Amino acid sequence: MRNVDTIAAISTAVGEGGIAVIRVSGPDAVREAKKFFRSRTDIMEADSHTVHYGHIVDPADGEVIEEILLTIMRGPRSFTAEDVVELSTHGGVVAVKRVLELLLREGAIRIAEPGEFTKRAFLNGRIDLTQAEAVIDLIRSKSDRAFSVAMKQAEGALSKKVKALRHQLIELLAHIEVNIDYPEHDVAEMTSNYIQTRCEESCSIIDGLLKTAGEGKILREGIVTAIVGRPNVGKSSLLNALVQENKAIVTDIPGTTRDVIEEYISLGGIPLRLLDTAGIRETSDVVEQIGVQRSRTALEEADLILLVLNLNEALHDDDRLLMKQLEGRPVIVLLNKTDLPPVLNEDELYAIVSKESVVRLSVLQESGLDQLEHAISRMFFGGELESGDLTYVSNVRHITLLGHARQALVDAIEATEAGIPIDIVQIDVRNAWEQLGEMIGDSVSESLIDQIFSQFCLGK
Ligand code: GDP
Ligand code: ZN
Repeated sequence: MRNVDTIAAISTAVGEGGIAVIRVSGPDAVREAKKFFRSRTDIMEADSHTVHYGHIVDPADGEVIEEILLTIMRGPRSFTAEDVVELSTHGGVVAVKRVLELLLREGAIRIAEPGEFTKRAFLNGRIDLTQAEAVIDLIRSKSDRAFSVAMKQAEGALSKKVKALRHQLIELLAHIEVNIDYPEHDVAEMTSNYIQTRCEESCSIIDGLLKTAGEGKILREGIVTAIVGRPNVGKSSLLNALVQENKAIVTDIPGTTRDVIEEYISLGGIPLRLLDTAGIRETSDVVEQIGVQRSRTALEEADLILLVLNLNEALHDDDRLLMKQLEGRPVIVLLNKTDLPPVLNEDELYAIVSKESVVRLSVLQESGLDQLEHAISRMFFGGELESGDLTYVSNVRHITLLGHARQALVDAIEATEAGIPIDIVQIDVRNAWEQLGEMIGDSVSESLIDQIFSQFCLGK
């Protein structure tokens, strides 16, 4: 194993909590922990994956600082593949900080850089790069569904597919190699067709992965949703109802404060990012509202626009204007207040917008929200949200590399079609293989690794 030092960090979220965990990893983890830990058992002798009760004591003056549970995981059977000790303290920012400070002050331990634990797991071959990146997504994931996609990736679903692809390409490369070494006419001819077929196969697998990219991005970042409509149609009520029922658990990530306040909700597993702009929320006049720069930006950026109309009112000129302005955009029209006597002429409405894009609801009675959920699912996931394969490509770096690999394969196909010698074609195929390798961290530069892992928060 490489020559490394021992690192420590608080691994649980900063703030008040039931317990807080300090994670220590490295060759001296157990020995260092022993310096401060008083217990009945000698942890130097303890088995891997055992938990020990005891106290953290300041060796300088014997002061008892915390009552803790200490867990030992000896490498390579740990997250980093190094010796890992986890100290579960009673929480409270002050207590956990005191313990960490003590470890850093008295011990040969240094504070971990952001993402350093995961980086070590990667460098020690425990996980590959797509899995490491998935850990970032796990930390950030905004909804159940995004979580399960990230989970799946962390388990290696994407890297499995990429590895299979690379395997095909390496076989192809070997095949080409043999034919370069033993060039007989008919064999070479066959190889040309063979290369083409093989490259086309790989291309269509990459296409399949790239097709999931849009959906993956949505799951990762949420469908940016703007709610628009005339005053008093029920926009605020809808927003409140959605937020109250479906508020997503949002993990705090330092350094991601945004200008626009947004609400994340998870509607049937679909993450929505409801843009909460001053314009959309507060300005009452609809024309004026659209004039407000911020809400205009929000509208332009929106992946989904919920246009609210009232069933108990006749269609208004402002409604017609709005629908005209939103033509060609992904709009779901919500016919609100179905609990009141209907007035709106629905034939006229369906002459302007398609019937499939209209959902009837009563925010007041909380009815119709399920249908809204289905409509969104239909619009963004072809209605097959629950179907099993959760291998989504959602990382910009992955999308770029898949694009490069695809291009290299297209180059190879075109080269064979043009009758270019196969030792030249081989370069394109090798290029595709290398691009895919970069995806899983097989051939990545040191600086890229640093860049990826610096996105982590401390203690991961
Ligand atoms: P906004 O101006 O579009 O944000 O509309 P609000 O959310 O402030 O709602 C305007 C009024 O409509 C409020 O008095 C709501 O209680 C009422 N309202 C909202 N949704 C419904 C509904 O489904 N049925 C009925 N009867 N009233 C509703
Ligand atoms: Zn309002």
